Amino acid sequence: MHAPTTDHTPHSVLAPGQPAVVRTVTGIRDAGTAIRAQGRGVAFVPTMGALHEGHLALVREAARDGSGVIVSVFVNPTQFGPNEDFSRYPRQEARDAALAGSAGAGWIFAPGLEEVYPEGFATTVTVGGPSDGLEGAIRPGHFDGVATVVAKLLLMVRPDRVLFGQKDAQQVAVVRRMMRDLHLDDIGMEVVPTVREADGLAMSSRNAYLGPEDRAAALALSRGLAAARAAAEAGERDGRRIEAAAMAVMEDTPGVAPDYAALVDPDTFRPITTLDGPATLCVAAKVGPARLIDNTPIRPN
Ligand code: AMP
Repeated sequence: MHAPTTDHTPHSVLAPGQPAVVRTVTGIRDAGTAIRAQGRGVAFVPTMGALHEGHLALVREAARDGSGVIVSVFVNPTQFGPNEDFSRYPRQEARDAALAGSAGAGWIFAPGLEEVYPEGFATTVTVGGPSDGLEGAIRPGHFDGVATVVAKLLLMVRPDRVLFGQKDAQQVAVVRRMMRDLHLDDIGMEVVPTVREADGLAMSSRNAYLGPEDRAAALALSRGLAAARAAAEAGERDGRRIEAAAMAVMEDTPGVAPDYAALVDPDTFRPITTLDGPATLCVAAKVGPARLIDNTPIRPN
């Protein structure tokens, strides 16, 4: 028996507003039981917090069919490299809870490090295939961290549906592969389109690192994607030339250090040499103190 908590009071099931904050696996499973006892499904939105309109689009979509919505807020150390931004990643739980609640979340699952990775923890989920290349190559171990924490969160929460953002296209491919391979695909996976600022910049928690000049330069990513789309619309089929159209915009923008522009298959993330079916163009660049990623679907004309 675990001690009674105020983790999931019935009123938070019924009324939108301030979500209950749950910190334990037991507590979040009890929340799922309470949601299902009301005849509702459980929808889950995993995040690292610092919520913005992109995250809230996932929460709104999760809530749309009347599901009880659980949003996890966990800055997962195992998906950050040793020289990455784990320690300075923005943490603002009270604000996140209020925002998630306003978008329809009933529960915030914000476990401590020791709840997720208790003493003696020794299991890692490694996904091959779509993890190879691009982010997987530049951030060694990143997708091991992502796959491990997403598998753990899905097994902790046991939702009916889980929602991810198209913003992280390679993550979507890796998680989809992992869910199939580990027989977690009885959970419905939904992908929500990228939410952008009015000028085209993809919303990201890491945009908070950008100063005013960086913020202007960061538009090179979405502008590069637009240039590549325009090339494909004008009839370009050569994958390398489509990539070059995006790369040129990024390289020509002062303050932007591009990592890649890559035309890939949306599921396997293998390079596409000739555009003759669905494809995703992914870009990544350092802009001031931030490393940003973005992507767009590219269709043959
Ligand atoms: P994060 O907190 O960055 O791990 O993101 C949590 C979820 O929100 C992931 O599924 C992201 O792909 C998604 N997400 C982040 N930014 C956006 C955005 N601009 N539009 C749509 N989804 C997003």
